[in-house]
Amino acid sequence: MSARDYLEKDFYQVLGVPKDASQDAIKKAYRKLARQYHPDKNKGDTAAEDRFKEITEAYDVLSDEHKRKEYDEGRALFGSGGFRFPGGGGGPGGASGAGVPFDLNDLFAQAGGTPPGGGGFGGLGDLFGGLFNRGRGATAGTQPRRGSDVESEVTLGFTEAVEGVTVPLRLTAESACAVCHGTGAKAGTTPRLCPSCNGSGQTRRDAGGFAFAEPCRECRGRGLVTDSPCPTCHGSGRGTSTRTIQARIPAGVADGARIRLKGKGAPGERGGPNGDLYVVVHVTPHRLFGRSGDNLTLKVPVTFPEAALGASVRVPTLGGAPVTLKVPPGTANGRTFRIKGKGTPRRDGSRGDLLVTVEVAVPQSLDPSARDALAAYRAATTGHDPRAGLLDEHGRGGGG
Ligand SMILES: [Zn+2]
Ligand SMILES: [Zn+2]
Repeated sequence: MSARDYLEKDFYQVLGVPKDASQDAIKKAYRKLARQYHPDKNKGDTAAEDRFKEITEAYDVLSDEHKRKEYDEGRALFGSGGFRFPGGGGGPGGASGAGVPFDLNDLFAQAGGTPPGGGGFGGLGDLFGGLFNRGRGATAGTQPRRGSDVESEVTLGFTEAVEGVTVPLRLTAESACAVCHGTGAKAGTTPRLCPSCNGSGQTRRDAGGFAFAEPCRECRGRGLVTDSPCPTCHGSGRGTSTRTIQARIPAGVADGARIRLKGKGAPGERGGPNGDLYVVVHVTPHRLFGRSGDNLTLKVPVTFPEAALGASVRVPTLGGAPVTLKVPPGTANGRTFRIKGKGTPRRDGSRGDLLVTVEVAVPQSLDPSARDALAAYRAATTGHDPRAGLLDEHGRGGGG
């Protein structure tokens, strides 16, 4: 349904209720009519079917206080002649011939795009959005326009980034002022078309024989002027809106990644597609684990006897049960072992690996028996010099 249809229909009349009907009365009227005209009861009767659609449409708007308010305000402005046109009784376009002719149908055509999400109409904000666009130059028109891309960022815990998570994102965007619905006019007053530019938002200026179109100074390109400005937006008609969306962050996302969420950006205009949302992801470090692409990394201390003699070491995994790592005899400090499939999830459903690096831990203090045992070990290994070949017979570095 276009905004024009929406404002031309009298939903109160459709339901047979007064303008100030309570929600109860609206519901009652709807139920009664819906029963009467329900397609199940009127098989093959297209008139009844149309009536049923009309009733449902009316109820959809009037049963929602927010939609109802916008509808009421829209009708007050446009539907019942509250909107004044320049040039006396000339009606839309007038006969003044100054600048671009203004046509109410054009306004409605611009505003009448079907917003994504299937709401049917976008309310007054969209209506005035269409009007504002007139002031933005030649790109404004009746063409559908894709919504702009929006950028946001989010900080995830390490495990959330590995496993994937759905996070609520608060997005702030410029939109019509919520108080005046973008009209810029104080409550109870009505904006009128700017008399300088006749509502086009542009004026022509002659400069050296060339005519330039520039934003109208009187209305600053909006096409509308207000006698009593809205105190909230000071007459600009602009405000910010905040919406919260649930953003699905895929598993395995890395710190600094920029994720594209298709269609979650700013809404398109006049039926154009939504923009995209880009989310820059920050990942907080983990106490134990690190990341290397699809792999998780982990440092595991082992004792010298474990490295020398070999051992079975229990190591943690991220979000899973610990696993046993076989450290073979004679394992060097800093050697890395690969535990398959315990890393981060990949797009194809497989997982990277857990890379475990062993670090030989040197005791800070020794009790006497341990000291004696190490002294005995030293005495038993004098034949093995790990620094053999490091220095030549003159005490200099070899190999050169
Ligand atoms: Zn306002
Ligand atoms: Zn103007």
